Amino acid sequence: MAKRDYYEVLGVSRDASQEEVKKAFRNLARQYHPDANPNKEEAEAKFKEIAEAYEVLSDPEKRANYDRFGHSAFDGQGFTNFEDIFSRFGGFRHDFGGLGDIFDMFFGGGSPRQRRGPERGADIRADLEISFKEAAFGVEKEVKIPRVENCGTCNGSGAAPGSKPQPCVVCAGAGQIQFTQNTLLGRVIQTRPCERCRGSGKIIEKPCATCHGTGQVRRTRRIHVKIPAGVDNGTRLRVSGEGEAGPYGGPTGDLYVYISVHPHRIFTREGNDIICEIPLSFAQAALGDEIEVPTLEGTAKIRIPEGTQHGTVFQLRNQGIHSLNGYGRGDQHVIVKVVTPTKLTEQQKQLLRELARLSGESPSGVEKGFFGKMRDAFTG
Ligand SMILES: [Zn+2]
Ligand SMILES: [Zn+2]
Repeated sequence: MAKRDYYEVLGVSRDASQEEVKKAFRNLARQYHPDANPNKEEAEAKFKEIAEAYEVLSDPEKRANYDRFGHSAFDGQGFTNFEDIFSRFGGFRHDFGGLGDIFDMFFGGGSPRQRRGPERGADIRADLEISFKEAAFGVEKEVKIPRVENCGTCNGSGAAPGSKPQPCVVCAGAGQIQFTQNTLLGRVIQTRPCERCRGSGKIIEKPCATCHGTGQVRRTRRIHVKIPAGVDNGTRLRVSGEGEAGPYGGPTGDLYVYISVHPHRIFTREGNDIICEIPLSFAQAALGDEIEVPTLEGTAKIRIPEGTQHGTVFQLRNQGIHSLNGYGRGDQHVIVKVVTPTKLTEQQKQLLRELARLSGESPSGVEKGFFGKMRDAFTG
């Protein structure tokens, strides 16, 4: 389903002030609060949409990004998701109890409450350094990550082998207790976590000795990561399901691998193209030559034509880096650097003087030619 425009969601114009945005959000939040609606599910969906739009439009920086790039401004950044909104507003994840807290924040309620149910495990970040060539061709690597996993002894239940967690008798396993509260909007049904089972809905009579009844243990794991060809500095790879185990049987988080690429001795990178500089002697540049240049996969030959100038660029098609999306490959650019000799024998010097004389450019001749024109340009 296509995402609706945030301005449309809040029903405000594109030049609405922060105050108008806030006001629109308050009104809609009041209207669609799930606890105040008979069709709870529909109201929740609507409320999420409103909360997300507000989260972006109430923040001047995010709003500016949204104005420029639309929804794609937040692609891959992973912060405009409901979990984040809720955790920021109320400190909860995957818990629509959290909505009550957003609501409370705006309408003067208070008392934070928390239901402990299955939650998604946290995502993990791992940083990985790879070589220039590994980035160009792809590689498989191992990353070592410490993470929370479900306890193997009790399979994450927290109960000693042979026993089982029992449903809590106080809340009948729901983990929370409903109560009615009078608010500005009238009577709303609220919930609070069960104190007996601390919101889990279960009582563990004989805790597992390995995890002390938490159902989870910390372990360091080696994870195999397949790095595709074409990654660059700052590329972020998601390894699904390799994050931390979710508490109370919740789904596992993801592992995010951030790539940094070592610089290469010879090549620099520009997009998918690679660039290198090749020294040429004055004689090679003047007379032409065939030279061998390094490529990512070995070497290639380039014909240097007669009279090649310093800075001339030769292209080797499709010798660059494979595109990360799998289509095509960049080029290699070879920049010629004509090297002026520094240590000349007397005979070599003599030959160069002879050459200069034949070209009509003795040291004083050069002065009259190019440098003379330069001087005229500055003084004239
Ligand atoms: Zn255990
Ligand atoms: Zn309970």
